[in-house]
Amino acid sequence: MLAERLRTNGVVGAGGAGFPTYKKLERAVEVVIMNAAECEPLLHKDKELLRHHGAMILDGMQRVMREVGSRRGIIGIKNKYKDLIHDLEVACAPLGIHVHALGDFYPAGDEFITVFETTGRVIPPGGLPGDVGCLVTNVETLLNVALDRPVTHKFLTVAGDVAQPVTLRAPVGASYGDVLRAAGVAPESVAHVLVGGVMMGKLSTGMDEVVTRTTGGLLCFPVGHVLPRRYLADAPARDKIGKSACDQCSFCTEMCPRYLIGHPVEPHLAMRGLGFNMVGESLMLSSQFCCECNLCSLYACPEDLFPKDACADNKVALRARKLQHPDTGKKNVKPHSMQEYRHVPLSSLIKKLGLSAYRNVGPLVEIDWDLDQVRIPLKQHVGAPALPCVEVGQRVVEGQMIGRAPAGLGVAVHASMGGFVAEIGESVVIRRND
Ligand code: SF4
Ligand code: SF4
Repeated sequence: MLAERLRTNGVVGAGGAGFPTYKKLERAVEVVIMNAAECEPLLHKDKELLRHHGAMILDGMQRVMREVGSRRGIIGIKNKYKDLIHDLEVACAPLGIHVHALGDFYPAGDEFITVFETTGRVIPPGGLPGDVGCLVTNVETLLNVALDRPVTHKFLTVAGDVAQPVTLRAPVGASYGDVLRAAGVAPESVAHVLVGGVMMGKLSTGMDEVVTRTTGGLLCFPVGHVLPRRYLADAPARDKIGKSACDQCSFCTEMCPRYLIGHPVEPHLAMRGLGFNMVGESLMLSSQFCCECNLCSLYACPEDLFPKDACADNKVALRARKLQHPDTGKKNVKPHSMQEYRHVPLSSLIKKLGLSAYRNVGPLVEIDWDLDQVRIPLKQHVGAPALPCVEVGQRVVEGQMIGRAPAGLGVAVHASMGGFVAEIGESVVIRRND
């Protein structure tokens, strides 16, 4: 059965979310959507995968469609990739799969936006694609479905302040330092690494951090670049500046992609809430459906404030207090009349973020890995960690299961290289030599 094999093989959403794919197959849906929008600036792995493994990826999509009883498949891909669109249209014609050309805007790849743009359906606030008959899945995830073997490696783009941006296939558990060296970048020459994307990523804490099944990119930045500076701002400083400098112009709300599809997301209210403790709870509710795309903070706000962080903090507080917006699950939400006119072009975003000097490419290169060690986290996915099923000192081969899937939500974890098990904790460390 496909779902059980995906759980055993450790297939999770490779686009960054890490949701176990087997779980998505439990619900019958009408439309399966391949999310190939890859809207984060500088990331290119999905396009490269479609160029090099297109047939396998379409095979994975058909398997998923069969499993959930879907007769309609859609590929959402940016209209600027004309060569790929042509090849996909030829390959998809006999398969009941339609290629939908998306505009070159951010965040076209946000699941809710992808569903809206490709089908015209609005997922209810706080809902799931399945609520409107859709299943959304990432390109690499579909490749892993088709490969039908343990997920031991991850495709990711190395880009930013580097001579040659590349996409490569890295062993899960390889350190960022090892990956940068393999990409021709001296780790000691890099001041900051943004992991996963410039908009929704996180700042790396060190070159010892490791690749997981959800790592989509390592983006390098020099000292003083505006982006790491923004990510380094601490919460008290952010809130203090926000309280005094926000003039409630509401540009953040007017540009918010979730607000524009009709969801009650109003980051300017979250900002207002920073200064009004007594009415904070009602203002907080406007943050519940924020997807943390960061457009409000990094693009819309003319004062360079942090409305996204105000929303993210509110979401944590709302969960702790068990508060819910009254529109949670509301059906037939209507998009804003200006929705289609307020897309943020990627070119404008790149300019605003100070990325124009960096090459926005990432050709796929083959790497002959020869690592001394990998450190493989037992939790790389949504759900409970995998349960170690090897012992310290044991020899393992590449692809061998080292962590069993837990009883509830979760997947198995596998060795990404052969060697012996040196440590077991939250991660399993495998070393090449005794
Ligand atoms: S956070 Fe920025 S964009 Fe939003 S209301 Fe305040 S000043 Fe305006
Ligand atoms: S991060 Fe900002 S723009 Fe993005 S969904 Fe949240 S409030 Fe809207």
